[in-house]
Amino acid sequence: MFESLSERLESAFKNIKGQGRINELNIANTVKDIRRALVDADVNYKIAKDFTDKVKDKALGEKVLLSVSPGQQMVKIVQDELTELMGGKASEFNITGTPAVILIAGLQGSGKTTFSGKLANYLKSQKKSPLLVAADIYRPAAIDQLHVLGEQIQVDVYSDRENKDAVSIAKAAIAEAKAKNKNVVIIDTAGRLAVDEVMMTEVANIKSAVNPTEILFVVDSMTGQDAVNTAKAFNDRLDFSGVVLTKLDGDTRGGAAISIQYTVDKPIKFVSNGEKMDALDVFYPDRMAQRILGMGDITTLVEKAQAQFDEEQAKKLEKKIRKNQFDFEDFLQQIQQIKKMGNMKDLLGMIPGLGKQVKDLDIPDDAFKGIEAMIHSMTPEERANPDIINPSRKNRIAKGSGKKLEEVNAFMKQFEQMKQMMKMMNKMPMGGMMGRR
Ligand code: GDP
Repeated sequence: MFESLSERLESAFKNIKGQGRINELNIANTVKDIRRALVDADVNYKIAKDFTDKVKDKALGEKVLLSVSPGQQMVKIVQDELTELMGGKASEFNITGTPAVILIAGLQGSGKTTFSGKLANYLKSQKKSPLLVAADIYRPAAIDQLHVLGEQIQVDVYSDRENKDAVSIAKAAIAEAKAKNKNVVIIDTAGRLAVDEVMMTEVANIKSAVNPTEILFVVDSMTGQDAVNTAKAFNDRLDFSGVVLTKLDGDTRGGAAISIQYTVDKPIKFVSNGEKMDALDVFYPDRMAQRILGMGDITTLVEKAQAQFDEEQAKKLEKKIRKNQFDFEDFLQQIQQIKKMGNMKDLLGMIPGLGKQVKDLDIPDDAFKGIEAMIHSMTPEERANPDIINPSRKNRIAKGSGKKLEEVNAFMKQFEQMKQMMKMMNKMPMGGMMGRR
């Protein structure tokens, strides 16, 4: 995410960090580099200038000149200002009401339907009971698409192919939600390829008919400054409550994320970073600023891990590790938990300092496939007692998993080393890491 911007900012700071002495000229040069980096990331010039003027004033005002580590202090100022520019604090997402009504608007192809599915999936994980509504009366394929997603995430979808009036579809859907005790209604509206009067009128009419709790404007972050202009057009007409930035997993330069709040004075509420239904994150300006500055995002990583954390399972595992009984079945379970956390490259990118390194790595979604295949080729007895795996069993496992014997050997060796490490941790005072809770 935003790698090239991160790199440019990093090199802007390198100059000032490397200086033995800091002076106004150094600060001015750094600020100029930052401004260029922002403009190249497709941030509007005026916004970039405003931003760097603030950074400069703060740097001079806060006496960076006298500071012990001026470079660090500059980074902190930029981090704070960047957070502020993207909205400061994370904003609320309002789902009060019986039912709460969420209206989804945006251009065709921006990712509305995909996001509607993701939002329903997210709300379901929050123990809500959502109803998806297909209110696109022009493209039957859009209705089909929502039904496919609904089935995938097991959320009901309301549609009426005979009805050519989006307002009445929306009203009927809300009535159905009430009848079926659904507490959030997500209305996916029709989009056009460009801002267009018919589309705007239709969405505006739905808005006045259903009085939504939230109106989310969905925009493709790959479109840079166009995204910002489209946001302005939609906001002028709809006065939406929040923005959803999609396709952050692509080759996005960052301009949209940085400038939208400044331009329309509405918060980004969600970011979407993949085609899978769980590739959705709540937007936190401070965490995004950290990621832009190449500092990773440990908070999100920990949250993703916690969401998959099963206390019972963890206790059992801890006991087994203590008794040095960690086996292949446990290993398989761990892998499955990690996989549920999301895309590998994305996860690695959240570790401070790793974002840049993994940028060009091609990490397939099925990075663990080989290991899983080997474990799956073991009998339950072998999984529970790794020690019984002799050469002839190894041969069988290699054949069964389509791996070479050397690969099986290497994996077994790694597993042994891991167990040795666990054993050492157990012997550490206080029971090692496991005891320090
Ligand atoms: P709509 O016309 O606004 O409803 O857009 P769709 O939801 O149909 O999305 C358009 C295309 O973008 C589809 O091929 C989606 O799979 C894809 N898409 C949507 N969101 C994302 C995302 O966050 N990342 C990526 N890589 N693709 C996305």
